[in-house]
Amino acid sequence: MKIYNSLTDKKEELIPLKNGKINMYVCGPTVYNYIHIGNARPVVFFDIVKRYLTYKGFEVTYASNITDVDDKIINRAIDEKVSEKEIVDKFATQYFKDCANLGSMKPDIIPYATNYIDQMIKYIKNLEDTGYAYYNDGNVYFRISKISDYGILSNQRKEDLIAGARIDIADKKESPLDFTLWKNTDVGIKWDSPWGKGRPGWHTECCVMIDDIFKGEIDIHGGGTDLKFPHHENEIAQANASGHNHLAKNWMHVGRLQIDNQKMSKSEGRTVWVKDLIENYPYQAFRLFILSSHYRQPINYTDEIMNQYNKEWEKISKAYKQAYVSLRMNKIENKDLSDDIKEFEQYMDDDFNTPNALMLISNIIKKINVKVRAKEDFSSDFNTLDTILNTLGIVPNKPVIDDIAIDTYNKWNEARINKDFDAADKYRNILVEKGII
Ligand SMILES: [Zn+2]
Repeated sequence: MKIYNSLTDKKEELIPLKNGKINMYVCGPTVYNYIHIGNARPVVFFDIVKRYLTYKGFEVTYASNITDVDDKIINRAIDEKVSEKEIVDKFATQYFKDCANLGSMKPDIIPYATNYIDQMIKYIKNLEDTGYAYYNDGNVYFRISKISDYGILSNQRKEDLIAGARIDIADKKESPLDFTLWKNTDVGIKWDSPWGKGRPGWHTECCVMIDDIFKGEIDIHGGGTDLKFPHHENEIAQANASGHNHLAKNWMHVGRLQIDNQKMSKSEGRTVWVKDLIENYPYQAFRLFILSSHYRQPINYTDEIMNQYNKEWEKISKAYKQAYVSLRMNKIENKDLSDDIKEFEQYMDDDFNTPNALMLISNIIKKINVKVRAKEDFSSDFNTLDTILNTLGIVPNKPVIDDIAIDTYNKWNEARINKDFDAADKYRNILVEKGII
C-alpha cells in the first residue's frame, strides 16, 4: 500500500522497518482545554490508520502522548487558582472520554511528558555535550546552524527562515531559529536540572518519548498539518542530532478543519467542542463527515453539512439493520466476502482514499436493497459492508436476536399472512421495543 510521505512529498510504498510491524506515533493534545472538532480530525483519522493497517495484517503499536507541561496549562492553573495537576487531570479525562465517544480506540501507549523529565534532561545534556545545544542564562537552546537540512519537512530554506524570523532584542539565542530545549522559570511547575530550575521545551518531549518507547526510528509519525512547522521540523532536527535519522520514515499530516469556511476561532465563537457535538449527533455521522474528504485536504464544517451526514448515517444504519435482522432471523451463517472488498482495499491502499470508500459503501447498500427485493442471497455483500464499516470505526448498533426474538418475528409474519391484525400489532410492538424493526 502507498502512503503520502510529507518528508519526501511523494506517495511511497509502506515498507515496515521491522518485518510486519508498524510503530506509529501521533502528537497528542496539550491538556489545558476541551478538544474541538479540529483536534478530533487527527484523532479519528489515525484511529482509522491503525484499524486499517491492523486489518492488512500489520502488527501496529500506536503511541500518542499527553502534553501535561506547558505555559498554557500553567497560565490556566494560575487563573483558576488550582494546581497544574488539577487542570491536567480534568482535561485529560475529558479528552479520553471525547475520543471514546468519537469511536476511537485508545492508543496502545499514552505517555505523559512529565513522566519523562529525567530522560529529557539526559537527552538535552547529550545535545549540549555534542555541540547541538548551548546554555545561556538558565536556558538551553538548540543550535539550528548545525543542521544542514533544516526546513526539509516544511519545504523551507534555512536562509529564508532566518530572514523571515522575528528578532527579539532581549533574545539570548545565537540565531532566531534556535528553539528552547530547557526553559529557566520561576513561574509554575519546575524541576531541578544541571541548568537550574526550569521545565523542558515542547519539541523535546516527543523525541524523548519516541526514543524511550520505540528505541530508534519509527515507521509513521503523524499529526495535524499545523504541527509541521516548527514542531515537527524541530523534532527532526533533534533526531538528526541524536543519530536517529529523520525520527520517522513516513510523516503523515492531516489537513485543517474550518467552520463556515473560516478558521476556527474561540474569540469569535466559531468553535465546536467535541463534547457538544456528540450530544447532538451520533459519532458515526461525524466519522462519515471526516472521511468524506481526503485526509490531506482541508475540510469545511457547517451545521448543514453535518445534518447531511447525519441523514446519510441514518440511511446506512437502517439498511444495515434490516439486512442484519433478515440474515439472523433466517439463521444464515456465511462468512464470505464479496469482490467489493478488493475495491475497498484498492482505495485505502492508495493513501487512504476514504471518499471513494464511502461511495463504495453506498453502492454496496444499493446492491443489498436490489437483492432483498429480488429475494437473492446478499449475505456476502452484508459481510463486506460490515467489515468495511468496522475497519473505518463506524460500528452500527446491532439488536440482540435470540431464539425468543426469532419466535416473535416468525409469529409476526404468520399473523400478517393470516391477516390477524391485532396479533400482528402485538408482535410488531415487541419487535420495535427490542429495536429489531
Ligand atoms: Zn510532537
